[in-house]
Amino acid sequence: MLQSQLFTKTRREDPKDEVAKNAKLLIRGGFIAKSLAGVYVLLPLGLRVLDKISQIIREEMNKIGGQELRLATLQDPAVWQASGRWSDEVVDNWFKTKLKNDTELGLGFTHEEPLAKLMIDHIQSYRDLPVYVYQIQTKFRNEVRAKSGILRGREFLMKDLYSFNVDQAGLDTFYEKAKVAYRRVFDRVGIGAQTFLTFASGGTFSKYSHEFQAICSAGEDIIYLSRDKEIAINDEVYRPEVLAELGLDEKELSKETAIEVGNIFKLGTKYAEALGLTYVNEAGERVSVVMGSYGLGVTRLFGTIAELCGTDTGINWPDNVAPFAIHLIMLGNDEVVTTKAKTIYEELSAKNIEVLFDDRVAGAGEKFGDADLIGIPHRLVISVKTLANNSVEWFNRGVGKTELVALDEVLNRAVNI
Ligand code: ATP
Ligand code: MG
Repeated sequence: MLQSQLFTKTRREDPKDEVAKNAKLLIRGGFIAKSLAGVYVLLPLGLRVLDKISQIIREEMNKIGGQELRLATLQDPAVWQASGRWSDEVVDNWFKTKLKNDTELGLGFTHEEPLAKLMIDHIQSYRDLPVYVYQIQTKFRNEVRAKSGILRGREFLMKDLYSFNVDQAGLDTFYEKAKVAYRRVFDRVGIGAQTFLTFASGGTFSKYSHEFQAICSAGEDIIYLSRDKEIAINDEVYRPEVLAELGLDEKELSKETAIEVGNIFKLGTKYAEALGLTYVNEAGERVSVVMGSYGLGVTRLFGTIAELCGTDTGINWPDNVAPFAIHLIMLGNDEVVTTKAKTIYEELSAKNIEVLFDDRVAGAGEKFGDADLIGIPHRLVISVKTLANNSVEWFNRGVGKTELVALDEVLNRAVNI
């Protein structure tokens, strides 16, 4: 992509109405724009990052047997009344709206109920199970607090997967697979080292649910972490008997502030019973389907990466989620420079390498400042000076190393990053 065609502008100053680091940096780099409190627009650069995160999640969900679909956002109250979750006393963050004829509708904040209902038409016998479905979809929640930038939005992207099994054993097996898939997602998006499986409250069906918590000062949760055992306990279940049960000693735990990036739950037959989702087992009996739900905040993950990889000058994107692989910058507009830069841009593009080419007529200070804000992992500079050495200046942002690379080596290197 030619940077001269990118309509978004970077900003040197922090936006006045933001307190969260992720929002400040993402707005300054031209990744997102604020629409209203808790509601953000994804600009082209931001959408590229979000799509990469989504694609990694998609691949990992597909690997464990997930089938992607997309449920409706507008929700029929009847489906939620069946489980008791339509009431504002039970669920305090519903957005509700009305048809012209005054019929009430809701905007989906999660999707257990409508999916359990949908599955009635598709699951009849034990032969139809297991089924694992997921979606990557916009959720709406009327959150009281919206000060954490895209970490807590009123409109946000979530991946939600739901498992349907014949029994508890099937659920348990899949649940463990989901944990592994989540681990792979966090590793691939570059926050694996800071993200820990965390025991949280489980509700009625299982003793615990599990969260994935990324250690970060911007988080809203407190967890107690054992770095040796690579597990943590959410403060909501931090009690002597829980420690004993998990074989943890208070002394080995450190108290940390963290961001809940994912949450997995064993639901049992709660929603299946409420909606009437049953199947006929091998013995010919009609029994309820056993469910699980597996949430992952896609926009929250985006914000978490920005928090963890952000500096005073911009965001150092991990390779796998960076908006582009290479930021090619030409300095000055001497013809030798522009011609060579264009050639390199075309050669790299021909190899399907994602390049943002700063072909603008602008000063070095502005170009470097923008490159820092956008944070593409590899910055290649071509100038009269580098061409005098028959090379480009190659800055690897991740390792903080700059070197001269011979012109005829650039393509080969770029293919292998
Ligand atoms: P929280 O405790 O942060 O309010 P939750 O426990 O209500 O979240 P879930 O219903 O389990 O969240 O949703 C699954 C995932 O969606 C969460 O783990 C989180 O990553 C993400 N998420 C939840 N609420 C928001 C929000 N308002 N904005 C962005 N992401 C969110
Ligand atoms: Mg939670």
